[in-house]
Amino acid sequence: MMYRFISDSHIHSNCSFDGNDTVLMMCNRAEQLGLYSVAITDHCECGYYSEEDKNNLVKEFGKIPNFKENIEKSIIETGRAKAINNRNLKVYTGIELGEPLQDLNAAENILSLGNFDFILASVHNLKNERDFYFLDYEKEDLYNLLERYFNEIFETVKWNGFDSLAHLTYPMRYIKGKGFNVNFSKFEEMIAEILKLLISNKKALEINTSGLRQAIGTTLPDDKILRLYKDLGGIYITFGSDAHRWADVGAGIEEGLNLALMCGFSHFCIYEKHQPHLLPIK
Ligand SMILES: [Zn+2]
Ligand SMILES: [Zn+2]
Repeated sequence: MMYRFISDSHIHSNCSFDGNDTVLMMCNRAEQLGLYSVAITDHCECGYYSEEDKNNLVKEFGKIPNFKENIEKSIIETGRAKAINNRNLKVYTGIELGEPLQDLNAAENILSLGNFDFILASVHNLKNERDFYFLDYEKEDLYNLLERYFNEIFETVKWNGFDSLAHLTYPMRYIKGKGFNVNFSKFEEMIAEILKLLISNKKALEINTSGLRQAIGTTLPDDKILRLYKDLGGIYITFGSDAHRWADVGAGIEEGLNLALMCGFSHFCIYEKHQPHLLPIK
């Protein structure tokens, strides 16, 4: 292994509606790979938290997720994995809080369920719209869509109730992945504003490596945005494979570390009780 500390701070277990394997399987895999730490970050989609909103999600995924039950289970199982795995792997209790601004009560409610080490904030869909994964980009106004996405991200960073911002540029995973081209210069200013606010709030930017194993072929965000974050004074970065099955635990993290080094970062961080711990990349 090339790096001293390899940490995967974005992992889904089967306590996520789209996850496959148990928390224990995910942790065992991480330990087998020699990872330094993991954070289990199961989904709570705030915009789909209440009963009436769930019907929409059934259309998407064919089953009704009970986010409260899922997260309670995730916390308990992560606690168990911590106890078993206190050998060579640090295990942290996390959550991927989707679209908190779409239902702030839901966000508050879910975060009160446990003592989280680490909160990832993300935006997978715009209010009352489908996950970017499902959109038909032939029919969409890509610029309008991205503008609304970055606006919601900006508002989320303003809200500030999280530790790290997950997979910035998420819609590009599908837009670019499906072969559509977007002139990104239109959004440079918005992205810079998001990064500046993140930096002044002392919050982290995630380097999500899932794109490396998907059609888009880059991390989310990509090196260009990482360099901008660095240039603007960004220090805190976290790494996440966004694994939804045991085989993807730790996937792309070494490539991500390498990329971060090339973009000028010397450290990355992991979170314990919302406190960033800086670890040297090399
Ligand atoms: Zn996500
Ligand atoms: Zn995720």
